[in-house]
Amino acid sequence: MITLGTQGKNTFLEAVNAKSGANVLECYQCGKCVGTCPVSQYMDFPPREIMQMIKLGLKNESYMANSHWFCLTCSACSGRCPREIDIPAVMEAVRHLAIEENYINDSKKVREIRKFHEIFLSMIKRYGRNYELRMMAEFNIRTRNLFKDMHLAPKALLKGKIPLGVKPLKSAKAIRRMYEIAEKLEKKK
Ligand code: SF4
Ligand code: SF4
Repeated sequence: MITLGTQGKNTFLEAVNAKSGANVLECYQCGKCVGTCPVSQYMDFPPREIMQMIKLGLKNESYMANSHWFCLTCSACSGRCPREIDIPAVMEAVRHLAIEENYINDSKKVREIRKFHEIFLSMIKRYGRNYELRMMAEFNIRTRNLFKDMHLAPKALLKGKIPLGVKPLKSAKAIRRMYEIAEKLEKKK
């Protein structure tokens, strides 16, 4: 097995590997993930650099970077990674660890992404599915950008791309119960 990077005690690397199930040490810095990632140009550090930062134990820098917030979990990178590293799982692990350890990136973009996550999850909790129109409205209100993308709404509505209402899924109640259980478990931590 090819392993590059820090071989000594690197608790950050250990935590990321344990949470993601990946072995970040296997990354040999080829950069294929960067070439594939659709949002790498918006990240403070593209996935290849995040891998190296983890290997070097740069916890603060990794947590505070916007990279793991911008990651779409699309898996385009891992599909091309010659080491078959589950890169989105690594990004997610960094995001979760940063939240657990109270590292907050307070940039406007990250705040908006967090709000988007919160609103999306609340839609799923309420309806068992997304309610796009309400989601757009809530997002615009909560980010104080009332008219964001409003010019697209009439066309999308006319073409039926955004339904006016939403019919909750039959399983919505069971999904809500799942949320409640997860929230209780979170509180116990
Ligand atoms: S594609 Fe895989 S091996 Fe190459 S830099 Fe990205 S994570 Fe590392
Ligand atoms: S999973 Fe994340 S890091 Fe990988 S290509 Fe998609 S957005 Fe980029």
